[in-house]
Amino acid sequence: MKAVGERLKDKRVLVTGGSRGIGRAIVEALAQEGSKVAFTYASRPESAEEVLNSLPGQGHMCLQMDISQPESVEQVFAQVLESFGGLDGLVNNAGVTKDQLLLRMKDEDFDWVVNTNLKGTFLCSKAAIKPMMKARSGSIVNITSVIAHSGNPGQVNYAASKAGIEGMTRSMALELASRSLRLNCVAPGFIATDMTDSLTEEQKNKIAERIPLSRLGTGQDVAQAVVYLLSEESSYLTGQVLHVNGGLYM
Ligand code: NAP
Repeated sequence: MKAVGERLKDKRVLVTGGSRGIGRAIVEALAQEGSKVAFTYASRPESAEEVLNSLPGQGHMCLQMDISQPESVEQVFAQVLESFGGLDGLVNNAGVTKDQLLLRMKDEDFDWVVNTNLKGTFLCSKAAIKPMMKARSGSIVNITSVIAHSGNPGQVNYAASKAGIEGMTRSMALELASRSLRLNCVAPGFIATDMTDSLTEEQKNKIAERIPLSRLGTGQDVAQAVVYLLSEESSYLTGQVLHVNGGLYM
């Protein structure tokens, strides 16, 4: 087993949506483990620049990409592959929500969430496997959600997109195992991000009471699972979902 700080030494990894939240924690953890990281943002270049400047190590890059747009995905992967000369890992982290109860959910809000989360993961995975198949090596980690398993009122579109990613991951894992490519999911539970910053202490305590480990998760909790799935320590794992939820759902 490699020493902590070297578990992903010289691995070239692309992370979608690394400018904040869980994606930012993933980017930081990968850089701390020796990866060369390319990460993307959608609309906040200043947050992305701030993350880039804070990373240890050299050769990292950040780029604008809309994962739901094939041309945007194609362009960014071409740029990263040219600069890195190959790709060892991909983390499909970028995702969106647009909550509403089923009766009031607009068709376009269903389409937007599924197009971004599910189709975006499909487009990025397709772009990443080309160089990985050539190299006969690579690991893809898709960030899904506990909601894919438990369901959630108001999140029909989101639950469908995340459950879809998990089914797609198993199919891709079967298709690509013969080339030694591994594909897995990390399904976070309730994670403290910008979103939860707006909650009061009382609201946060109420949520924590529902979680057997009595606290909200952190971006680092999720990031450590991602590091594991990208590293050789998980070389016999493919097509799996690793739950990081403090026991919220089991
Ligand atoms: P977040 O704070 O809202 O960050 C989303 C990231 O995705 C940002 O970097 C954003 O870029 C980027 N992004 C948004 N739309 C995009 C698009 N169309 N194309 C490319 N990038 C796009 O999200 P988060 O809470 O950290 O969640 C990260 C992942 O974990 C998501 O897949 C989410 O579904 C999943 N998850 C989160 C939780 C939770 O409790 N937070 C729980 C379970 C699962 P900009 O900064 O430029 O907007």
